[in-house]
Amino acid sequence: MSSSTLPFLPFALPDIGEDEINEVVDTLRSGWVTTGPKTQRFEADFTAFLGDPALHSMAVNSATAGLHLALEALGIGPGDEVITTTHTFTATAEVVRYLGADVVLVDIDPATLCIDPKCVEAAITPRTKAVLPVHYGGLAADMPALLALARRHGLKIVEDAAHALPATSAGQLIGTLGSDVTVFSFYANKTITTGEGGMVVTRDAALARRIKTMRLHGMSRDAFDRFTAKVPSWYYEIVAPGFKYNLTDIAAAMGIHQLKRAHAFHARRSQIAQSYNAAFAGLPVITPPGPPAGDLHAWHLYVLRLGDAAAVRRDALIEQLYAAGIGCSVHYIPLHLQPYWRDRYALRPERFPHSQHAYEQMLSLPIHTRMTDADVQRVVAAVRHALA
Ligand SMILES: *Cc1c(COP(=O)(O)O)cnc(C)c1O
Repeated sequence: MSSSTLPFLPFALPDIGEDEINEVVDTLRSGWVTTGPKTQRFEADFTAFLGDPALHSMAVNSATAGLHLALEALGIGPGDEVITTTHTFTATAEVVRYLGADVVLVDIDPATLCIDPKCVEAAITPRTKAVLPVHYGGLAADMPALLALARRHGLKIVEDAAHALPATSAGQLIGTLGSDVTVFSFYANKTITTGEGGMVVTRDAALARRIKTMRLHGMSRDAFDRFTAKVPSWYYEIVAPGFKYNLTDIAAAMGIHQLKRAHAFHARRSQIAQSYNAAFAGLPVITPPGPPAGDLHAWHLYVLRLGDAAAVRRDALIEQLYAAGIGCSVHYIPLHLQPYWRDRYALRPERFPHSQHAYEQMLSLPIHTRMTDADVQRVVAAVRHALA
């Protein structure tokens, strides 16, 4: 292939426009760079985007911070267990350990690569307090089943929606399903980005109050509130040993405009996914499952699995694509294989057959809005060439 003459196609690229740049510059010139008016606007816009005025949207400096705040507000602590999927990034699980609680990892449904509600049910003990599903790759986990089992067993649900803006379950946007808390990520490679950042969403006013307080040192009033107040502004109270998890207005300035483009970004990602699906039909591969009829898949990831009949193994395919100037990745090395999680809970791959099997066969192809149609065809040609 003559692809060595083409520029490297990165696995992911942020799509930052002039509106984002101008808003950031405006913030830099404004005299207020930390949490303030732009963050408030971003939060209000996010609630409007989800379309439910009863939601509280709270901006944070990462989804990891948001997941930590969510579990803290729910009172998770030592002696408690939180069930989550082994097929995720370590951030999903590490926040449970921040609070001294225990992580119970379970396997995935091989059809969706999302947490399997039957495995969740089988892992429930008297110590179980919450379930932390991940909408893997942008496809909603089986939320009707998870919400039903949470109700039956009196468990909390915190959704790791880092991949899921915008995605739907049974026609409703992730973030509006009625779980306890939902957390989105705006990390550099996510479907919209603020560089680093996240949004915590809940309908529960008491949880929202706790999360807002703990997001900023456990202070009763934040700096912008004090700065703009009409009464003497020096007074605040510390009501808990909180964290430093607030989002800056510089980041929120990006988020305001990224959010406006979220539907257009989504349309392009969906188009790329359809092109890949069509091009790979007939090859010895398993293309990613689409959403149920009428639902949205956010297409944060395009995860291709090699069939047993494929002429090339996963590692070799990634090397061939790299040699052709195409960046790929693997999402994820399952947590049960990572030394900390493996050793801490004495985990063996046989307990997670579906995640283990998917891991051995899968790779993530580039799917981002700065890819041209020619870029997509270049990936298609390289995959077809490797599998020929
Ligand atoms: C990116 C990601 C996170 C963490 O998001 P940050 O904003 O980087 O903290 C958590 N869970 C999953 C599944 C992710 O992909």
